Amino acid sequence: MRMDVLTLFPEMFEGVFHSSILGKAREKGIVNLHAVNFRDYAGNKHGSVDDTPYGGGGGMVLKPEPIFHAVEDLLERRREAGEEAGRPPRIILMCPQGESFTQRKAEELAAEDHLIFICGHYEGYDERIREHLVTDELSIGDYVLTGGELPAMVIIDSVTRLLPGVLGNEMSAVTDSFSTGMLEYPHYTRPVEFRGWKVPDILLSGHHANVADWRRKEALRRTWQRRPDLLENLDLSPKDRKWLEEFEKESGRNMQE
Ligand code: SAM
Repeated sequence: MRMDVLTLFPEMFEGVFHSSILGKAREKGIVNLHAVNFRDYAGNKHGSVDDTPYGGGGGMVLKPEPIFHAVEDLLERRREAGEEAGRPPRIILMCPQGESFTQRKAEELAAEDHLIFICGHYEGYDERIREHLVTDELSIGDYVLTGGELPAMVIIDSVTRLLPGVLGNEMSAVTDSFSTGMLEYPHYTRPVEFRGWKVPDILLSGHHANVADWRRKEALRRTWQRRPDLLENLDLSPKDRKWLEEFEKESGRNMQE
């Protein structure tokens, strides 16, 4: 998997690309990460990449030429490396107006060979970039950041950890919140007792089927408490439904107390 990020601040990616799990994934050759400064493609002697908006108003708008040229150069390099036969890259615009990024989207992107991220700044982009260059527009939430670098980092991190061989124990991504459609069950580690608070006995029992049952029930409880909207898309077993009724009854009892 190759990921290129077009940005005016490539130095922001140095720590992220070289540290922790992303750093190891690069070292293992599982993922190829590059930050490209699209100011290098400005094509004018001042290296100017933005201009005032037509129609007036405040803020600066990113010009189309540097971003188109930077993407076209990446595509040309793919051709030279004989990689154009593979699936074409997804060209992803970081944008608060885009589709909301989710774990499903991360799974979809993790199946691709090549992703190109475009990080905006200032007021935004010339609309022709959105209309004629990109394949996707992604938002990481309903708030506005100063630039697309942090959103691109968020997406690159969540996609990379899904690639085979990146996480030491592959199971840990499989049971993660959202991968299962639910929130994850609670975790405990040593000591068995801390300040009088004990680890649930069942986790110490060594009985794998009972532990799996407890985890399913607690994942369901947490989802029911915090994100009931997720339950609508879950394939619930009769046992799950019984547990949900139990939670409802318990909460009714708690309300009366
Ligand atoms: N004027 C734009 C608007 O109202 O939609 C916001 C521009 S924002 C200050 C500058 C850049 O930051 C955006 O072009 C985008 O690349 C990035 N950005 C900001 N918030 C984002 C978010 N929630 N998700 C993805 N990218 C975001």
